[in-house]
Amino acid sequence: MTMSYVERVYQELVDRNQNESEFQQAAKEVLFSLKPVFEKHPEFIKAGILERIIEPDRMIMFRVPWVDDNGVVKVNRGYRVQFNNSIGPYKGGLRLHPSVNLSIIKFLGFEQILKNSLTGLPIGGGKGGSDFDPKGKSDSEVMRFCQSFMTELCKHIGDDIDVPAGDIGVGAREIGFLFGQYKRIKTMSTAGVLTGKGLNYGGSLARTEATGYGLVYFVDEMLKDRGLSFKDRKVVVSGSGNVAIYAIQKINELGGKVVACSDSSGYVYDEDGIDYSMVQEIKEVKRARIKEYIDAKPNAVYHESKSVWEVPCDIALPCATQNEINKEQAEILVKNGCIAVGEGANMPSTLEAIDVYLENGILFAPAKAANAGGVAVSALEMSQNSMRYSWSFEEVDMKLKSIMQNIYLNSKNAAQEYGFENNLVVGSNIAGFMKVAEAMIAHGVV
Ligand code: GLU
Repeated sequence: MTMSYVERVYQELVDRNQNESEFQQAAKEVLFSLKPVFEKHPEFIKAGILERIIEPDRMIMFRVPWVDDNGVVKVNRGYRVQFNNSIGPYKGGLRLHPSVNLSIIKFLGFEQILKNSLTGLPIGGGKGGSDFDPKGKSDSEVMRFCQSFMTELCKHIGDDIDVPAGDIGVGAREIGFLFGQYKRIKTMSTAGVLTGKGLNYGGSLARTEATGYGLVYFVDEMLKDRGLSFKDRKVVVSGSGNVAIYAIQKINELGGKVVACSDSSGYVYDEDGIDYSMVQEIKEVKRARIKEYIDAKPNAVYHESKSVWEVPCDIALPCATQNEINKEQAEILVKNGCIAVGEGANMPSTLEAIDVYLENGILFAPAKAANAGGVAVSALEMSQNSMRYSWSFEEVDMKLKSIMQNIYLNSKNAAQEYGFENNLVVGSNIAGFMKVAEAMIAHGVV
């Protein structure tokens, strides 16, 4: 009976959200791993928790018109999916990338509900963005886009309502433009309405580093549990954005060596170890392509249009984007002797790739647990904004580390309690879900 509950709800989700393959994928992983929960808690079935949690509270879609540097009118589509606010205001990033559509925003928003719950902080789940492509755009074009986007978005957000932040394509520059337009329209300089802000107008120290650092703290915890560590390990990190850069820095600090990183055009291999500050300079300051890395490091090699997963490694940290590791690539990792995979991006492994890791005994740190450090420090930024106070870098970093350790422990314990020892996919889904489900029961049918 309980089997049919999960299957029925999933089937309804597929029927009702056809063509939303990413949302279906994210939901499938979560729903099926929750089966043991419904066996133990029939009250969740009675309360229709699954039927309700998979349907966003609301989905806002809007036109974003702007004028490019040549005076040409452009129109993009804006999204904000407010998925679930049972444990706190909607919280989640904004993604600017040409691939953005409703399915992508819904998968990210759905993941965010459980991820945010895992942080132990009072934040609900939401996500937004646009199919605007920031690549090759001037600062003024990005500003005009952000101002137009916020002109609509500001009607739907607020420090106790919904608090957006960055994601792919949205960093300090974009958050600055978005904040400027928010305060201009609302006549309010409410710092807590966005996170990832600049340090001189309410941002938190260590927010920039948080996702990358948090990922490495989490994977380190998982390794330590087996008597292993990053020391002298060969690591491949995909991507070269905010998550990748600070993951590389932290791995170096822990004595590991990152030999390759990538962007959507190809990857660089540096047997001396990737220099994170060089990557930062290329990607964040110059906004250029990763292939420029070899200009500064003559020993490094650039491979155009090749998958970074062909590089043999002990530890793989996918930090680029969804579905960047498929079954075949997972098999290559296994063949090359990889012992651990930690997800810095959201849903970087396909469901088939995850099966490959689990069947081959690879230690696997799933995204919603392993990359929760970013949003956790966003919640700490909200706390500091409410207090009108700010903590030191060390204080925030210490809190981040203990949050990541707790997520690891809670996920591990939940897996054990429900008979799925060592399976952090099941463990993190259950641990994140329980808190939200109990809050939803407490609130009645709403
Ligand atoms: N975009 C990040 C994530 O995927 C951070 C969201 C936030 O800080 O609100 O969790």
